[in-house]
Amino acid sequence: MTYCNKCGKKNDDDAHYCTKCGNYLTKTSSWENDIEKFAEDFGKKAEQFGKRIEKKAKEFTKRMEESSESKTKHCLHCNAELDHDANFCCICGKKIE
Ligand SMILES: [Zn+2]
Ligand SMILES: [Zn+2]
Repeated sequence: MTYCNKCGKKNDDDAHYCTKCGNYLTKTSSWENDIEKFAEDFGKKAEQFGKRIEKKAKEFTKRMEESSESKTKHCLHCNAELDHDANFCCICGKKIE
């Protein structure tokens, strides 16, 4: 349905002129609809993309935190790489502070 913007009468979609007042019925042209639809789609996609990036960033941060928690330490005496929960050096056998 197309509404006359002059008198407000309901007219058929394919009507070019208002049946009541004879006003020329301007319709939203298709490219405007296309742009509107495109903008809407784009907005949705951008939102989804943003959420995906956010999720990835969170995953990345989580992984970084995990890896920093489980990072290895080094023996103060011989500089051997040790597990973070090691109490004694596996190379020189000295107690880890
Ligand atoms: Zn009219
Ligand atoms: Zn050592």
